[in-house]
Amino acid sequence: MSDRGSALARAGIHALPLYAPDAAACAIDLSDNTNLWGAPPAALRAVNELPASSLSRYPSLYSEPLRDALLRYAGVQAPGVGVVTGCGSDDILDSTMRAFGVPGESIAFCAPTFSMIPVLARLNGLVPVEIPFANGFDIDADRLVECNAKITYLCSPNNPTSTAISRAAAEHVVAHAKGIVLIDEAYAEFAPEVFVDLIARSEHVVVARTFSKAFGLAGLRVGYAVGSNEVVRLIERARGPYKVSSVAERAVLAVFSEGADGLEWVARHARLTMENRARFIGALRGLGLDPLESAANFVMVPTPRAPELQRALSARGILVRAFGGMRRDVPALSASNGAALRIGVGPWEEMMVPTLDALREALT
Ligand SMILES: *Cc1c(COP(=O)(O)O)cnc(C)c1O
Repeated sequence: MSDRGSALARAGIHALPLYAPDAAACAIDLSDNTNLWGAPPAALRAVNELPASSLSRYPSLYSEPLRDALLRYAGVQAPGVGVVTGCGSDDILDSTMRAFGVPGESIAFCAPTFSMIPVLARLNGLVPVEIPFANGFDIDADRLVECNAKITYLCSPNNPTSTAISRAAAEHVVAHAKGIVLIDEAYAEFAPEVFVDLIARSEHVVVARTFSKAFGLAGLRVGYAVGSNEVVRLIERARGPYKVSSVAERAVLAVFSEGADGLEWVARHARLTMENRARFIGALRGLGLDPLESAANFVMVPTPRAPELQRALSARGILVRAFGGMRRDVPALSASNGAALRIGVGPWEEMMVPTLDALREALT
């Protein structure tokens, strides 16, 4: 085999990483922030009872049948406000960069944040510009604005830190940033506060959400974003048609229409997650660990022993994510040498108790 095909690749493609989280199969998998109770019964039923046409025909072009329900759910039904869907919210983030970022322009964000952001930026020819978080993991709004970036990315609650940003800082960025402000609310359902109302403040604000986390539908790949109609239609042009499958569309419609087995199931499990999160954080403190204040469905535990603890848990059939080499500008990560565990929150007896037992054993 020659490597002629490889030589034809666009500059920079060879350097792009493949997404490769820790792969070991474990009985208890707390590594990817999905809904650990599973999927809403309404979605399962819709998928089991699919008509043949859902497979043989194309889906709707741009998820028109979902739009009203999405705007209503996000609480942003108003003249001039629109919604765009995508194959997961990754697709929305990617399409937003493509719609507004001219190759060579920059996208600014506080780090550490969602690992796909610098990857998608480079894929679209954009320059990722990293700013350290302010103390307590709020964004450094002044420095972000000073970047003068074409796109400013805010993630709240932030992955992987689980922390939320302050309303004052978010409003400051929205008021002063010249370019697009892309707010990623993948974990909105677990947060004390959401920023979706900021789309009314500026036509440059886009808020992205997903069905992969609280909704328990990561396998179906559905995301959406709300913003001014003008802006979301441009993202849609950059996205292309047929990105949400008929299967996904039917499942999402069922979740929105079948109360107790749909939206109420989602809300009930989000509440349970938040209860278990508080209990888990308390128990971790009892073990002498120092988890960050979480606004999401996972907990970040800065500790220099992260890699070793991750292996110890994995040997006991429990998979968590270990992070290393993160920016150490904030005290919590400086003390842990930029290392931390990220642990998903799920059913108490079945998942969190065994995790605490394994951690206790590994720590002593
Ligand atoms: C999980 C996640 C997403 C996206 O997920 P999709 O499955 O592509 O919808 C987006 N942003 C953040 C911060 C996430 O953690």
